[in-house]
Amino acid sequence: MKYILEQLGDETLILRGSPPTLVRVKDNAAYIVDPGFGKERGTSLRKLLDNLGVKEITVILTHSHNDHIQATPYLKASHVYAPLIELPMIHYSKIRNYFSYGYMFTKGLSLLEGEDIVSCKPIESRKSYGGFIPIKLPGHTFGHYGILTEDDVLYVSDALFGDKLLTKVGIPYVEDHTSFLETLDKIIDFSKMTKVVVLGHGPRISNWKILKKIIDLNKERIRNIEHDVLEYLSDSFMHIEELVSKLLIKYGVEVDLTSLLLSKPLIKSIISKYYREGKLKPSYYNGFLKWKVK
Ligand SMILES: [Zn+2]
Repeated sequence: MKYILEQLGDETLILRGSPPTLVRVKDNAAYIVDPGFGKERGTSLRKLLDNLGVKEITVILTHSHNDHIQATPYLKASHVYAPLIELPMIHYSKIRNYFSYGYMFTKGLSLLEGEDIVSCKPIESRKSYGGFIPIKLPGHTFGHYGILTEDDVLYVSDALFGDKLLTKVGIPYVEDHTSFLETLDKIIDFSKMTKVVVLGHGPRISNWKILKKIIDLNKERIRNIEHDVLEYLSDSFMHIEELVSKLLIKYGVEVDLTSLLLSKPLIKSIISKYYREGKLKPSYYNGFLKWKVK
């Protein structure tokens, strides 16, 4: 793959990918948002910056997922910043994989290989890092940030999913769906100040109607799944994997190890909310933790 820095804003550059990487170069310093995944990507980006005369690199990570952060060590950055609550996952790849998948696998799933990034420090909300301003957009992960740029780009990272990704995964990875829904409304507000919205896995959007459509699609998917969970649990006691499988089949997604593990956080978030509200009761019949509507 050829790595090219393209102009996105007046000063913001973009390196294509899923997720894409934002870059700003000021004098001899470069500021980078989400380097992405792969040694080749990291070393190629470092070379591109060397050719621009960059001597010092600052990296900002929107959240702790390996596909966004794994190329970081290859940049040999002077400073790395990430959400405070997600630092343990960024510092230690073992915790990162355990938190994302719930198991200590080292193979059998994609995106597992990653190094520890122990030098990472907490991000400061609303501070400008060379023109990149972190803003809190939680939900996909508990500490998730987006980036507003001084030249009117909004990088929402995984706070909003593209329509193709939603179709592919059926049940998106969401740790806190209540925050995720609130964040979608925040994105609408922030987008009014910007010229282009960049998704972690989806299109670049500069048309407000298209943005609104994708936001509505995300809202609808979360609300439909929330409704489905309540409906399924009205009929009988079910354990979480039964629920996830049933929903994956409903959304036309193959049930396998990856889809089961990455779909669980959203379903756990929904169960947590209903349990907190006193709508669900647990059962331990036959050794399974099952849930049902009271
Ligand atoms: Zn993510």
